[in-house]
Amino acid sequence: MNKDIATPIRTKAILDKHGFSFKKSLGQNFLIDTNILNRIVDFAELTEESGAIEIGPGIGALTEQLARRSKKVVAFEIDQRLLPILNDTLQPYDNVKIIHQDVLKADLSEVLQSEFGTFKDLMVVANLPYYVTTPIIMKFLEERLPVRGIVVMLQKEVADRISAKPGTKEYGSLSIAIQYYTKAETVMIVPKTVFVPQPNVDSAVIRLTMRTEPAVQVKNEDFFFTITRASFAQRRKTILNNLVNQLPDGKEKKDHILEALSESGIDPGRRGETLSIPEFAKLSDSLLVHFQ
Ligand code: SAM
Repeated sequence: MNKDIATPIRTKAILDKHGFSFKKSLGQNFLIDTNILNRIVDFAELTEESGAIEIGPGIGALTEQLARRSKKVVAFEIDQRLLPILNDTLQPYDNVKIIHQDVLKADLSEVLQSEFGTFKDLMVVANLPYYVTTPIIMKFLEERLPVRGIVVMLQKEVADRISAKPGTKEYGSLSIAIQYYTKAETVMIVPKTVFVPQPNVDSAVIRLTMRTEPAVQVKNEDFFFTITRASFAQRRKTILNNLVNQLPDGKEKKDHILEALSESGIDPGRRGETLSIPEFAKLSDSLLVHFQ
């Protein structure tokens, strides 16, 4: 087997050979621990038939492990300076395709279709650039791409918010947005010492497993997300006050909100963080008639 990229010595040799300097603005913190990489790939439960989609291959540390354990890897890298390096480090693998593009600007549906046409199993696996973790995850979910799940490293604080349960201080509109589409778990906490350069924050790996149907059925999805965001606008305020402040003005606004809360069996004095996703679904359906 080829030597792993993700060791401190090999990584340094690659960086020196190509005279590479890190760009903090692109969230470049490379993994230098093969055990951690292998555990990330384990969580993705890939088979020889799987396709893997990676965001930000860097110098190819994770890409290499994915190439060994899946049928094909497609990786999006924004930094042109990394292309010749990846060409060099991933030269032993003929099942990797690097796409030089900002993943947020990519037509993912088209790329998945053209690169993985007949594949039955697709997983997103990445050590995400931390400045842009949420938009990347939301793009995969909102575009309803045909992937089985997403296993990614990100800031621990964001991982905690994504997988939070009602009644905790981490629970909010991000937890709901992601748990609407997926079952979310934090599966590993990762120390700063396994990166070069070391990030300023702690890291964690989350596993998002796509639901076949959303967690709840709502009459209007956009309105449901508007209501969840409005309910957390000021965390210390009650659900009633947040909705009164956030929803557009209109005749008898407060009465309509009180009526919808009562119809949904929700005490107006509760705070948004205590409401479960099914409760938010009921509430948004009740409010819809008045505020659409
Ligand atoms: N996968 C490598 C590893 O684990 O060592 C590198 C991970 S590093 C945290 C993030 C990578 O994402 C960098 O290579 C960076 O250039 C790339 N990147 C940053 N923003 C991106 C974007 N919008 N689209 C694609 N790649 C991006």
